[in-house]
Amino acid sequence: MDYIEDCSDERHKSFCIYCGCAESSAPVSRDHVPTKGILLEPYPRNLPTVTVCRACNGGFSLDEEYLIAFLGAVLAGTTDPAAQKLPAASRILGRNESLKSLIDRARQECPSFGDEKQLIWMPDLERVRRVIVKNSRGHAFYEFGEPMLTEPASASAVPLQVLSDGQRTAFEHVDAGPGWPEVGSRMMTRLMSGHNLKDGWVVVQEGVYRYAVFQDDGIVVRTILHEYLATEVLWE
Ligand SMILES: [Zn+2]
Repeated sequence: MDYIEDCSDERHKSFCIYCGCAESSAPVSRDHVPTKGILLEPYPRNLPTVTVCRACNGGFSLDEEYLIAFLGAVLAGTTDPAAQKLPAASRILGRNESLKSLIDRARQECPSFGDEKQLIWMPDLERVRRVIVKNSRGHAFYEFGEPMLTEPASASAVPLQVLSDGQRTAFEHVDAGPGWPEVGSRMMTRLMSGHNLKDGWVVVQEGVYRYAVFQDDGIVVRTILHEYLATEVLWE
């Protein structure tokens, strides 16, 4: 990705954007948004990072591992580590037998029309939610310089294939609305320069991860993972 310097409001950079603690009182580290393991190797250069407290940076790792392993299993149709397309999912499923069997139990065959059996996977939505809200906080801060410290009004994650054509079109349509991003924010720079921007979406890795951040009676963050999972987090 292209590196874009952030010149947004400095006052928002003295605390952790996940928990709100003052960074002067807590050790800090850099967190990648999105979580690296969701991506394919080689990872893109200049991946967005945000400064967070060390407790938060480590605190999400179990949920992140769950999401990577679950997503990997769904994309591959199996929890077999050797069959994974996501390298991080292969590593996690290979070393974490209990997580592997947990995900195996989430796989169900449902009767479909005729003799066809349909395979569905039942995710632990609370764990998925924690990761997508975390990543969305990171995207909003990285693009707009806005710390979203409150609980979002809504957060959802659904496979694209369950959306109707109308829902899909509405989801893909990124309407920047009447609000203008702060001068100096990365989103303003993107809008003017087109850096990594395609139809309003920031493409982190083609076909693997893209996100959109815009203002619409609040802040909306949408992501699409592997052109399979659509997520939306909304702050009023
Ligand atoms: Zn924190």
